[in-house]
Amino acid sequence: MHFAVLGSGSGGNATVLRRGDAALLIDCGLSLRQLERRLALIDCPPTALIAILITHEHSDHIGGAAALSRKYRIPIVTSYGTHAAARERLAQAWGVEAIRADHAFDFGVFNVQPVLVPHDAREPCQFVIGDGESRFGMLTDLGQATPHVLREFSALDALVLEFNHEPALLANSAYPLFLRERIAGPHGHLGNDAAAALLEQLDTSRLHTLVAAHLSEKNNRPDLVAGYLRDHAPAAVRCTIAEQYAPLPWQAVTRGAQRAVTRAAGR
Ligand SMILES: [Zn+2]
Ligand SMILES: [Zn+2]
Repeated sequence: MHFAVLGSGSGGNATVLRRGDAALLIDCGLSLRQLERRLALIDCPPTALIAILITHEHSDHIGGAAALSRKYRIPIVTSYGTHAAARERLAQAWGVEAIRADHAFDFGVFNVQPVLVPHDAREPCQFVIGDGESRFGMLTDLGQATPHVLREFSALDALVLEFNHEPALLANSAYPLFLRERIAGPHGHLGNDAAAALLEQLDTSRLHTLVAAHLSEKNNRPDLVAGYLRDHAPAAVRCTIAEQYAPLPWQAVTRGAQRAVTRAAGR
């Protein structure tokens, strides 16, 4: 199993997870054109997508979902609450399957565990996805760590984790007070310090790959995030920072799979 972050930030989020010929898209906040372009850059045909999982109804996660679903006849899978909140925007989708936010389900070769998170949306769920060999976690748009989140995101092989803002930059930003309070609040986004603290509370004994994601363009800087990763991520973990405007290359979730990809590419 491999994953690639196609883009991340308040301008749009999308990540693809692939095992063999089948792939899942987690969030689709990019336009159809951008999504197709970025999938082509990582050599993943849209026809490989068997489902579009949507974490919540904010536009940076759902903006391009209906158009992608309709064009390639891919079902959208999301919580009942997100479906209710986004009914109009998903009306043009090819199909929508609403799921319970507390029940794991199988989709093709993937086992998907939705995890309810505190965030200012109707029923926001992040996801832990396994294939029987390894487990991948997507954890952005999180106001605060909860015992539920810490339990579900422990002992993963690879994790995409939100590092949204640097608290001092946000506090001194030109954003209006209500917005600053919303972002920093318990139903907003994880700051760099909170993400680093969460990382230290997680069981990272299996973790080998971490991507810092959903960085604010105005209230964060990659060099600050790199400092937090250096100081707080376990030394053996390979860390990268997701970008808003370009995809990251494929990274392995299953141990040993990276070597297989490198060998195949070198042949
Ligand atoms: Zn978001
Ligand atoms: Zn959000």
